[in-house]
This record gives sequence, structure tokens and C-alpha cells, in this order.
Amino acid sequence: YEPDSQETFKSSDLTTKLAEPDQLRLKPDVSDLKFGHIFTDHMLKIFYHQRLDGWQKPVIIPFENISLHPAAKVLHYAIELFEGMKAYRGQDGRIRIFRPDLNMNRMNSSALSSGLPTFYGEELIKCINRLVQVDQEWVPHQEGASLYIRPTLIGIDGTLGVVQSESALLYTILCPVGAYFSGQKEEGVSLLADPSYTRSWPGGCGDQKMGSNYGPTIRVQRQAALRGRQQVLWLYGPEQYLTEVGTMNIFILYTDDNGDKVLATPPLNGLILPGVTRQSIIDLAFQYKDIRVEEKLITMNDVINLRRRDRILEMFGTGTACIICPISTIDYLGDLIHIPTTEQTNPVFKKFRDELYAIQYGYKKHVWGRVI
Ligand code: PMP
Repeated sequence: YEPDSQETFKSSDLTTKLAEPDQLRLKPDVSDLKFGHIFTDHMLKIFYHQRLDGWQKPVIIPFENISLHPAAKVLHYAIELFEGMKAYRGQDGRIRIFRPDLNMNRMNSSALSSGLPTFYGEELIKCINRLVQVDQEWVPHQEGASLYIRPTLIGIDGTLGVVQSESALLYTILCPVGAYFSGQKEEGVSLLADPSYTRSWPGGCGDQKMGSNYGPTIRVQRQAALRGRQQVLWLYGPEQYLTEVGTMNIFILYTDDNGDKVLATPPLNGLILPGVTRQSIIDLAFQYKDIRVEEKLITMNDVINLRRRDRILEMFGTGTACIICPISTIDYLGDLIHIPTTEQTNPVFKKFRDELYAIQYGYKKHVWGRVI
């Protein structure tokens, strides 16, 4: 979605106020960093006021708390959306962001769904690039580590009516994150698949990255943890369609009746968040001659039948946080279904991971890795 030019802020208006030396924080050792606990020295802020010509000028300022009216709509009706992407320090020392244009499209789509203002994606990318440049020493030097970028858009009208917010704040904060994989033998995750929980439904907004989709998952995630499972496998409807795993898209690699290898993932039918990693894996997999890629509905029964005939090769989740996360077990109505993802000799999930890694860290020149 691209609005007309009056409706956007401009990166050429961006001003920067640097933090004073005594405001700068010590950079942590990323090897044992918990996700999203430590933030960098600066942030980007852009206000929107419908009655004051819309979008205001973007500013980069020292990281600070936000002050909101207690009736701000974001606090009552979760008029809020966010994005998640990463900056990687390449083997050539240059910093790259992976396919940020897709995040911008998704952000504008979530904004439309929330009645929040849209903008030119490329303008926000330029502002974010500048923010990452200002805090570039925070982009970790360690192999496999990265800087997580969290653009956020909130409705800030201090009025309690359940109506569109006339004012909004778009801000972006950054946090360093460590490597997900140590390179040692990796265990797959265990999933709880309980058809009594629903993350998303037709006509809803499960395909948008709105905060209101995430709060209600915490209780279910706790149920999974109480049963000793690491993630929730979200099912939908009486057919028990597989939709997503935790906050990741899901893929299954299996052998069909003709002995051909199929890589399947659920289609973007409104129940699924259109993941950037998901799209990238589909794009890469089309080049593999020995794998047929299909976006199709997959039911729990399909999984059980395929497993019974020993046809499942791999299952994995995909997302910006962990890139690719292999799955080893599914706890489904008391049965423990074993998935042999990490037991394959040359698993496909590792091939995808290596290809994405090469692009993200600049080993392979590719348009998806955009140098800031
Ligand atoms: N599904 C959900 C529900 C998510 O929150 C995310 C994380 N954004 C994903 C899938 C994966 O999307 P991406 O590959 O763009 O990170």
C-alpha cells in the first residue's frame, strides 16, 4: 500500500539529537542476552496529528520513556501494531537489513486495519537506516548475532471513545540479540497442539501484526509450558488446520505418493501472518529442482497419516527471531508424534538457513540484503 505523497513523513526532514556522553550505555555481551531486555542509546519518533497536517517531522533522539495520556487509545483498545526485522553486520563490515520493504508493506496493511495512518515504506526505511547508523556500534560483531529493529505505531488520542485515533506515534527502538544457534547438534522444539485454542479466524485480523493478537496467546503458551512443551501449534476449525507455530510460520517437508518431495506451508488465507522468512523460503525453494513447493491447507489428520507411513522428513517454524526452528515432537490430544527433522543427514531446513545466513551476513550478494 502506497499512500499519496501528502500522507507521508519524509526522511529528508529527519533531524538527530545525539545522546550526551553520560547518557551512553555500556554495550552488553550478546552471548547470554535475553531477547528484548537491553536497548540502544537512541530511538526514532514520528508524531501524526490529523488536525495539524498529518505526519510531523521525524526525529532521532536519545532513548527515553514515552509520556501518554491515561486515556490514550493504545492503552484501552490496543490500537497498536508493530514490526520485527533485523540488521546484520556482514563479513565485509557493512550492515544489512533483510527485505525491509516487506515489513513496510505489512506495517501499512496493519495500519489500515487499525485505522492508523499509513506512510511511504521507503521513507521509514531511510529513517531506520539512519537510526541504525547512529547506533551502529550496537550491531553485534559476533557470528550469528544481530540488532533487532522494532518499529511500533500506536494510537494516542486521550479520549475513551472506541473510534479512530486522530493522533498517533510511530517510533522505532533497537536491541542487540545473540546468535540462536551455537553450531552444536541441535534439538528440535516440542509443540502442544490443542484444538480448543484458536489464534486467528476468518474475517479477523490474525494476518496483521497487531499487538492485540499477541496478548491472548500468553495463557496458551503457559499451558504448553506446564505440559513441558516449548511452543504452541495453532490449529484452526473442526478440520484442525495447522496455521502457525508460536510466533512463526510453519513448513512441512514430506514424500508424496509418487515418491516426490513436497515442501508445504499453509496459504495466506487470512489466518496466517505473511512472514518475511516464510516468503523468502518459498522463493528460495522454487529454485530447488528436487522439491515441489505448495501453499496448501494441512490438517492434523494429514500429519498423522503421513507420519504413520513414515513420509514426514522435516517440520520447521520460520520467523525473524530464530530464522528457522526445527520441530521434533507434537503433543496432540495425549499422543506424542515424533517428527524426525533433526535426524536427517542433510536436512533441507539447514540448507535454507545457510542460504539466508549468506545473504544476511553479506557472503552472498543479493537484493534481499539491503546495505544501510
Ligand atoms: N507468525 C507470527 C504470528 C509472527 O508474529 C511472526 C513474527 N513476525 C511470524 C509468523 C514470522 O514472520 P517474519 O518471518 O516476518 O518474522
